[in-house]
Amino acid sequence: MTVNSLEALDRRHWVHPVANWAGHEKRGVTVMKSAKGAFITDADGHELIDGFAGLWCVNVGYGHESIVEAAARQMRELPYATGYFSFGSEPTIRLAAKLAELTPGDLDHIYFSLGGSDAVDSALRLIQFYYNVTGRPTKKAILSLERGYHGSSSTGAGVTALPAFHAGFDFPAHVHHYVTPPYAYRNPTGSGDAAVIAASVASLRAKVAELGAENVAAFFCEPVIGSGGVIVPPKGWLRAMRETAAELDILFVADEVITGFGRTGPMFACEAEGVVPDMMTMAKGLTSGYAPLGALAIGETVYRAIADNAPAGGPVGHGYTYSGHPVSAAVALEVLRLYEEGGILANGQRVGAYFEERLATLADHPLVGEVRARGLLAGIELVADKVTKEKLPREAKLPDHLFARGYANGVIFRAFADDIIGLAPPLCCSEAEIDLIISRLRKTLDDVMALPEVAAAL
Ligand code: PMP
Repeated sequence: MTVNSLEALDRRHWVHPVANWAGHEKRGVTVMKSAKGAFITDADGHELIDGFAGLWCVNVGYGHESIVEAAARQMRELPYATGYFSFGSEPTIRLAAKLAELTPGDLDHIYFSLGGSDAVDSALRLIQFYYNVTGRPTKKAILSLERGYHGSSSTGAGVTALPAFHAGFDFPAHVHHYVTPPYAYRNPTGSGDAAVIAASVASLRAKVAELGAENVAAFFCEPVIGSGGVIVPPKGWLRAMRETAAELDILFVADEVITGFGRTGPMFACEAEGVVPDMMTMAKGLTSGYAPLGALAIGETVYRAIADNAPAGGPVGHGYTYSGHPVSAAVALEVLRLYEEGGILANGQRVGAYFEERLATLADHPLVGEVRARGLLAGIELVADKVTKEKLPREAKLPDHLFARGYANGVIFRAFADDIIGLAPPLCCSEAEIDLIISRLRKTLDDVMALPEVAAAL
């Protein structure tokens, strides 16, 4: 089929996730065709370096034959087995045990979903159930960070605190409340580590005091905010928030959908601060995008309380047909083997340090207000004025220009609506590939700055 007729079919039939529908009808689809390592090629034969690992997910890189073989083997032997009731299959059992081993502390009980949104949704549903069956039914409010992203389900999108996911959707609902994020660059009480940590801790305390601890169920956070503009907290922030949540008698849920599987260095970002959450959500890097899969790791206290207090004989009525899909589980087991035995986690740690260094060299660019990174997860905040931190006017359409210019220059990144570039290169990248990302990025910034509508706004 020619690209042109594919484009016509797409315009007519595919409703794309998180697209501007009318805009997409005009612009049309960009069809991606093939990929290898850190490079992806579109249907016109244009090869790009993927500085965003798909959608922060292809951590091991594209084109691993051993993953293809693991999926094919499992499809041949047993393409599907339900996890409902007490059925199961070997790869899913092995994967649950492996995740229990890899996750911190007593997060030893694994509930499988298909991706991140339904991992978060599962956490929310099971938290409700937990408090109801243990006699604390008033604990309903869910706290999360302003600018946090926790998926797009009809429960999780309210925990997400980004305008595009609320406007027109009846969010936030009465159970959703938001806490000050660790946004040093725009923190009103100062950018020093202590001030940034204190601002979030005080905000969490104030919210719980305002609502009453007996009405608050949990606090959700990303160890590094991703979709909200890659906001990297100071060291010690995560630990302080975890300890405050425990003191306030609310559950602490770490959403490691982006930060998990080596993205920030360690297997999970919580490890870097010795944090053991009550629950942890994961997806993306778990299969590196080769198959859909997510998981919720549940700590011993919550797991045991649900198991021992659920109505006798009845099910815990939450589950999906594809919870723990055996093909996705077989894929995940091979991906986890590649992180460890295949050396990809170690490579990510080495190259992550190099990436942080090289990225910092962009700080001298006139458009760059701040560069922030932890390992292979980074954000570059662009401003019209480095001193006042004033943004360019919306009419300059910076994100659109950035993405289009970057694409033409052969580099993919995310250009967020508020003039922040998001980067998440695959963990398999070499130093030379990191250099390529940085040089193409610098050229893109130069090209965009030279555009008349951008130059006029500076
Ligand atoms: N949580 C976080 C932190 C995420 O970044 C995402 C996806 N970007 C999700 C949840 C939702 O995951 P999914 O898109 O797989 O449903």
